[in-house]
Amino acid sequence: MFDPNEVKRDFPIFANNPGLTFLDSAASSQKPRVVIDALAHYYEYDHANVHRGAYELSQRATEAYEHARAQLAGFLNADPDEIVFVRNATEALNLVAYAWGLANLRAGDEILLTEMEHHANLVPWQLAAQRTGAQIKAVPVTAAGRLDLDAFEALLSERTRVFAVTQMSNVLGAVNPVAELAAAARERGALVVVDGAQGAPHLPVRVDELNADFYALSGHKMLGPTGAGVLWGRRDVLGRMPPFLGGGSMIDRVEITSSSYTAPPQRFEAGTPAIAEAIGLGVAAEYLKELGMDDVWEHDRRLTRYALERLREVPDLHLYGPTGEDRGAVVAFNLGSLHPHDLATALDERGVAVRTGHHCAQPLHRRLGVAATARASFYVYNDESDVDRLLEALLEAREFFKAWL
Ligand code: PLP
Repeated sequence: MFDPNEVKRDFPIFANNPGLTFLDSAASSQKPRVVIDALAHYYEYDHANVHRGAYELSQRATEAYEHARAQLAGFLNADPDEIVFVRNATEALNLVAYAWGLANLRAGDEILLTEMEHHANLVPWQLAAQRTGAQIKAVPVTAAGRLDLDAFEALLSERTRVFAVTQMSNVLGAVNPVAELAAAARERGALVVVDGAQGAPHLPVRVDELNADFYALSGHKMLGPTGAGVLWGRRDVLGRMPPFLGGGSMIDRVEITSSSYTAPPQRFEAGTPAIAEAIGLGVAAEYLKELGMDDVWEHDRRLTRYALERLREVPDLHLYGPTGEDRGAVVAFNLGSLHPHDLATALDERGVAVRTGHHCAQPLHRRLGVAATARASFYVYNDESDVDRLLEALLEAREFFKAWL
């Protein structure tokens, strides 16, 4: 098992911001030196456009970019030609909803989502539904903060053409039994789309065991740069899917009025990609692999258990999400009736950075009966001392706001 304090030394942001307790990795993680260096090295030594130039520099850039694709494939236990580079999970999910959804959905079809989805896995499906006449249904969340599995069974039918689900909730920390749900949905003939934005950074993921057709992730949440994410797609599904964006790099032959397209993954990478960012993401994936994703998950769970235990000591603090072993490294809370924004500002004054708001999950917050929450999230560079500082800051904030609670 790695030592989070040693890991922390790999991240320059902490030396440059002494006293910072960073508890917002679920929004975007910090970057290790190797990732930052990889970006600079690429621009200083290897930059040219990819898949175009006949000259050596361009070939080197192409090799580095394709190497990153292989690294991501290794990280997900997939084949490189199933890895499509996109900007982030949002783009990956939009790609599927537009390219697959518009080509395959019809009036009378149903898209099954869940109440705990991030807007990135809701709104693209709403847009697809509006254009095709398909209907959206959602699996409710129980009072215990988990998916209602009986409701899932009841909502699944022959009409279900798509089942789109998050691997881990960015608010509740609940980890969904994706492989089982996906198997049931695929058995009914539904396309299964997994939002791995919170799963990929924290859980060992083998897409070959997930029973899904698509898996979306954001590189910037897993130690990579912003601007690079991945859509993994099952080879045969990707092969049958029409393009999302048209332009350079994704075509075979172009006439004035029509074109034929290259095979995946290039078919879905129109235009010049985020080359440096993809390379940086490849390095981030290697860094995580070296830490060991089993150990990352173990570390996250241990820290989350510790956080839940300590935070229960704070009077008037309401914690959201399930209890149990399979809970990921986010803890959402509210202090009495205090607006979470005021609470977060008070925590920030004490050097503790947490996120507040609806975390792009308004339907879930409606289900929780609140407009907003504060959220602390942990990653490989956090340890118990960060939780202790959060606790101290919360107790001080409570003292300060006593009259308003
Ligand atoms: N899905 C989940 C569960 C998330 O937590 C997020 C980001 O917070 C996203 C999707 C969207 O990620 P991005 O903004 O990087 O596209």
